[in-house]
Amino acid sequence: MKFYTLQNKQKLPAIGLGTWKSDTGKVGEAVLEAIKAGYRHIDCASVYGNEAEIGTALQTAFKEGLVKREDLWITSKLWNNAHESDKVIPALKQTLKDLQLDYLDLYLIHWPVAFKADVGFASKAEEFLTPEEAPIIETWKKMEEAYNNGLVKSIGVSNFSMKKLKDLLVDATHAPQVNQVELHPLLHQEELLEFCSNNSIILTGYSPLGSSDRSQEMKKDNEPNLLENEVIVSIAKKHNCSPAQVLLSWHLSRGTAVIPKSTNPRRIKENLESYQISLTEEDLQKIKTLDKGYRYVDAKFFEVPNGPYKNIYDE
Ligand code: NAP
Repeated sequence: MKFYTLQNKQKLPAIGLGTWKSDTGKVGEAVLEAIKAGYRHIDCASVYGNEAEIGTALQTAFKEGLVKREDLWITSKLWNNAHESDKVIPALKQTLKDLQLDYLDLYLIHWPVAFKADVGFASKAEEFLTPEEAPIIETWKKMEEAYNNGLVKSIGVSNFSMKKLKDLLVDATHAPQVNQVELHPLLHQEELLEFCSNNSIILTGYSPLGSSDRSQEMKKDNEPNLLENEVIVSIAKKHNCSPAQVLLSWHLSRGTAVIPKSTNPRRIKENLESYQISLTEEDLQKIKTLDKGYRYVDAKFFEVPNGPYKNIYDE
């Protein structure tokens, strides 16, 4: 297994298990399968609605001696309705309670978007808090407090553009260790990757396989199917591996972490084994031609009429 050493010397396992859309009733088993297969990194979030079942699975794994707490990397994320200063630590403590843990390895601000506290998912302008009402730096100061008091070993952000990272770095005492963003061969984000590596921030790639299990209303018409992309399929044939393994191995060749989601035991194992594939320079050159800045998760769901958030990725 490959690890990335963060600025604070914590070691992030390069491949983790994603858990968005992993249904309750299935996610606990998926986490146990993953740990048995050798995963040491699980990507969670309170908004996924399945942290309690993951917590039970982690307890089973510890009790059965499958893994020790200190050998696991558990990430979770602060949801948009808990950005206000007095909400951050209570939200983190709820996640810790659900996951039955006394610390997280990494806590991320899930989105640079704030909702009012009683709103699960904002769909009208009045359900949001503006950036002036909930400044991201104030949220970050609370993340720093959680870091300083040992509730989390590392802190970071998610869905932050280079501009938003630069703004945050101006007033941050501790720089984010990680930025989790969408990355795959149709979306290389080279400039963001270069900025992050110059600032010792590790990028973690989400939706690496094209996130095909999103609900229909989240999908655009005629979304490209990454797993059937002919360049990816031809590289997979050459290496005698699956297209998913090519997509995941590409991350390791670029120095980014990756968190494929699966609840299927065979695919969970297959995805971890992608670290054994070494893409050649020729493969990487071919994949370079696929970049078209395409996002599966385009964040348009936060851009409501007269709402305070537009162009979230600053593109
Ligand atoms: P993804 O990992 O790109 O794709 C998941 C889909 O691929 C599922 O339908 C899964 O089905 C299938 N799959 C998994 N392994 C496969 C394989 N080897 N061959 C063929 N199909 C395979 O999508 P994602 O869930 O959007 O992204 C991954 C994780 O990133 C999430 O679960 C979440 O933890 C994180 N994420 C974070 C954010 C953020 O805002 N920070 C946003 C999106 C995602 P089965 O389950 O049936 O195998």
